[in-house]
Amino acid sequence: MEKVECLIIGSGPAGYTAAIYAARADMKPVMYEGLQPGGQLTITTEVENYPGYPDGIEGPEMMELFKKQATRLGADIRFGMATSVDFSSYPLKVIVDEKLEIEAETVIIATGASAKWLGIPSEERLNGSGVSACAVCDGFFYRGKDVAIVGAGDTAAEEASYLSKICNKVYMIVRRDEMRASKAMQHRVENTPNIEILYNSETDEILGEFGVEGVRVVNNQTKEKREIPISGFFVAIGHTPNTQIFKDFIELDEQGYIITQPGSSKTNIKGVFACGDAQDKVYRQAITAAGTGCMAALDAERFLGHHKALG
Ligand code: NDP
Repeated sequence: MEKVECLIIGSGPAGYTAAIYAARADMKPVMYEGLQPGGQLTITTEVENYPGYPDGIEGPEMMELFKKQATRLGADIRFGMATSVDFSSYPLKVIVDEKLEIEAETVIIATGASAKWLGIPSEERLNGSGVSACAVCDGFFYRGKDVAIVGAGDTAAEEASYLSKICNKVYMIVRRDEMRASKAMQHRVENTPNIEILYNSETDEILGEFGVEGVRVVNNQTKEKREIPISGFFVAIGHTPNTQIFKDFIELDEQGYIITQPGSSKTNIKGVFACGDAQDKVYRQAITAAGTGCMAALDAERFLGHHKALG
């Protein structure tokens, strides 16, 4: 069985930043990248809001640079997926690819979250060509244009409001006759002149051959269909944190996000730290994920120092 001081699970901005800090602290971090090396940023196009890139940078290229930096500093980055864990005793145990058993003194969880999608073929075909699950990442590309957003929670309301400042018009597609978002957010979108809320509405099809040109919406009460010309289609129907394998040991909230102690990355299990979108349902930005990745490595370093001092 392989023994490591610091095992990092997941390879988005949180995981790589944790790897950079852990490597510099001589913790010899080993990282398993997971199914989607580089994480959610590898499915976005241009990133313009990460400080330090004055001309913007493509998401996949940015993640390559994060990886290069972590590797140069000594992180051992491996392709593989953590498939189960046993945190019932110490040292901590992690199984990779269902067979390789690793014993870790500290584990940093950076498994992120996955955006939920509608699951219709046109959405998949036009993903990255006008279809996006992140208004803050991609809204800017639709400056002055008409767009649509699906969803009725706080994220959809917040993103509709964000888009309304950039775009000419925002259609909000809501499947019930009311929203789930907080009253304050509902009032905000209802009172924004260039947001039109389409209640009882579902997406029948996103239209366009090589890019989004429109959306066909169906009213689920009257069955009436309507085609609306748009250039961008945003999906904001929630995220699923990738925390399934930890649920027997780590405290999760009702939506599956890891609960960390306020102001730290500590979980309920000693030696296990969490960062990035796996524990953040509010901010969900690359920069905030990177920040919490740094916190996790520093917390792990302190934990190890303390542990070793006690013998
Ligand atoms: P939510 O789960 O709260 O909302 C998802 C929305 O998407 C719901 O309105 C749901 O409709 C709709 N939806 C789900 N599936 C489909 C589908 N297939 N077709 C059409 N619509 C669909 O997710 P959020 O990301 O909005 O929020 C997650 C959590 O984060 C919440 O607790 C939220 O309060 C919190 N949050 C807080 C913020 C803040 O405080 N500033 C900002 C953002 C999020 P229906 O209502 O019909 O089920």
